[in-house]
Amino acid sequence: MDRHATRRDRLRKAINRAGADALLVTNFTNVTYLTGFTGDDSYLLVARRGERVLSDSRYTTQLGEECPGLDLHIRSHRVTMIQAVAKVLKSSKIGRLAIEADSMTVSLRNKIAAELPRMEIVATSGLVENLRQIKDKHEIARIRRAVWCAEKAFGVIRATLRPEMSEKQVAVELEHQMRLFGARYRGFASIVGVGPRAALPHAVPTDRQIRESDFVLIDWGADEGLYKSDLTRVLVTGKISPKLERIYGVVLKAQTRAIAAIRPGALAKDIDKIARETIANAGYGRRFGHGLGHGVGLEIHEAPRLAAKSETVLKPGMVITVEPGIYLPGWGGVRIEDDVLVTRKGHEVLTSVPKQWESAILC
Ligand code: ZN
Ligand code: ZN
Repeated sequence: MDRHATRRDRLRKAINRAGADALLVTNFTNVTYLTGFTGDDSYLLVARRGERVLSDSRYTTQLGEECPGLDLHIRSHRVTMIQAVAKVLKSSKIGRLAIEADSMTVSLRNKIAAELPRMEIVATSGLVENLRQIKDKHEIARIRRAVWCAEKAFGVIRATLRPEMSEKQVAVELEHQMRLFGARYRGFASIVGVGPRAALPHAVPTDRQIRESDFVLIDWGADEGLYKSDLTRVLVTGKISPKLERIYGVVLKAQTRAIAAIRPGALAKDIDKIARETIANAGYGRRFGHGLGHGVGLEIHEAPRLAAKSETVLKPGMVITVEPGIYLPGWGGVRIEDDVLVTRKGHEVLTSVPKQWESAILC
């Protein structure tokens, strides 16, 4: 059985547990996960027996290439997606249809209900996303490739960074290099924050130049075509400030301790707590305002979350970022981020850009 069929079989069990006869998958990323099809505008109906992709003629060839053998319902341009959905549902004789409440629009839900008044609609959340938390060998290999592209590109940036470069130029160059190393896209809009700009966890690159401060924060990642990577490093580009060194040391300690605790059976909230306490003990508790990390895979942010309220039990195959930070408005911020695979015995850090204080210093 191919890996997509295996995933659909796992999903069938979840659909069963949700008390439904079928799930209409309307989240395109979930459709990709379950079929291998990478186009848009297509839904997947997974029933107790069999499944069918609902798409249109623009994608017929691509569907044949990416998921040969899968049952297709190709609508013509005269038929709307809603009409196609209604037709497939009627012919499948589904009594209770599960929908993805996090992605289906209210209007689509209402139109389906109007077309099939006797069918019961069951709102579900996270059925496919839960499966996606556990990566198989193939997915892990692709994430490794996304990490490789990102790290190679960063190596070039680190070696060629010039004082007159702007945040925008660094971001563009980083993305250019990732693509030269084989990435299909950037994983997300890169964050390049010089000095005080680094205090914004999601800083958008500006014309500010590297020489305008003594350090720069870079948060970047690659998309190798499907899977993504996500890293953050701080580089010291000017004189070494004792304050920066101290804060860097606290963040690194928080990150190192949290990573050390990652293993199957650990609670996500406990990993978050380890980093948070380390930062709080150093007096910066209020300066770490976001969760410790997130799953990374087909999407840059996906389940599970490492956060104070996350009850998720870590399992082998999960890939999570660990990214504590300390942000001081007006001064700047430090965040260190790596991608970590939960293994059967503990964990493996997939990213390998050096992060010791000495290796952050460029001059
Ligand atoms: Zn990041
Ligand atoms: Zn991240």
